[in-house]
Amino acid sequence: MKFKKNIALSKYTTFQIGGPTDYFIEVKNIDEVLEAVKWAKENKQNILPLGGGSNIVISDQGFRGLVIKLGLDRLEIRGETATAGAGVVVSYLINQTLDRDLVGLEFMAGIPGTVGGAIRGNAGTYGQSMADVLTEVRFLDEKYELRSMKPSEALFQYRHSIFKEKKYLILEADLEFKKGDIDAARKLVDERLKYRQDTQPHQPSAGCIFKNLNLTDVDVTKLQAKGIDTTQFEKFQKIPAGYLIDHLGLKGKTIGGAQISEKHANYIVNTGQATADDVITLISFIKQQIRDEYGVQLQEEVQLII
Ligand SMILES: Cc1cc2nc3c(=O)[nH]c(=O)nc-3n(C[C@H](O)[C@H](O)[C@H](O)COP(=O)(O)OP(=O)(O)OC[C@H]3O[C@@H](n4cnc5c(N)ncnc54)[C@H](O)[C@@H]3O)c2cc1C
Repeated sequence: MKFKKNIALSKYTTFQIGGPTDYFIEVKNIDEVLEAVKWAKENKQNILPLGGGSNIVISDQGFRGLVIKLGLDRLEIRGETATAGAGVVVSYLINQTLDRDLVGLEFMAGIPGTVGGAIRGNAGTYGQSMADVLTEVRFLDEKYELRSMKPSEALFQYRHSIFKEKKYLILEADLEFKKGDIDAARKLVDERLKYRQDTQPHQPSAGCIFKNLNLTDVDVTKLQAKGIDTTQFEKFQKIPAGYLIDHLGLKGKTIGGAQISEKHANYIVNTGQATADDVITLISFIKQQIRDEYGVQLQEEVQLII
């Protein structure tokens, strides 16, 4: 295998942030993953799987070990089931299934990244997530043994899965679609893309920095005392982290090249020269302000590799 050395990871993240990795390889099939993993094991190197790099902040010092960029792009659609490699780009999967009159993944429209990254973080929106469309996931466990799992065993919750918890490496998955109203599905995709275009920043980012809060985990009297009408959160039972950040007037707050987006308060954007240090410092600042003001602890949705 030809491992590249000293590769700048900023080229592989949507934030355009990240120092060099010692070793880097892009794998195209499962055999190559197994070979890369074997090499890392024999050479006592840490492994960082990388998909689209759209949910990650990598240290300015980079990563000590082997980054495996998952280019597993096999996509097979039979009947109403798609088998997608971990590296299949989600938007491509949506288009390919719609082209075959299959609906089911429209809720993911506009979410960047790959199938593997999306399963690991149980990505989603509008109350739907990857767990809803999966029927089987094949992965390498902590001993790098090949296993497969049904979604019912995968501990899926809001932005959480067993793959994230145990650092399993996702190889491919089966997803279930259904025949449906394609015109309506395409219209929905277009609407969602437009909505994102209008409401999300266009500068480099890693999407939402913080998870939204469960309404039941929060002492709402503290929020009400600060003039927040908490009944607006009852429908989805979630308090958007961005709402609280905005309510505190933090939009536009800048540290170095990292800025809380003026458009969406749960986004930090790279205004040009942001470092991971800038982003981490801004994250800490936000968490402290929110804790002091509302007595709640924000948790990162984004993966910090620091
Ligand atoms: C503009 C923008 C909007 C976004 N909107 C949303 C949204 O609405 N909803 C939402 O949920 N997310 C959103 N995100 C976040 C992100 O797009 C998703 O979390 C996405 O699913 C991440 O996939 P990825 O391939 O880019 O993962 P990466 O960023 O490459 O990786 C994320 C984590 O998963 C690990 N990983 C990647 N691939 C694998 C694999 N095959 N096996 C095991 N581990 C793996 C990585 O090591 C890393 O820890 C948004 C991001 C951006 C930039």
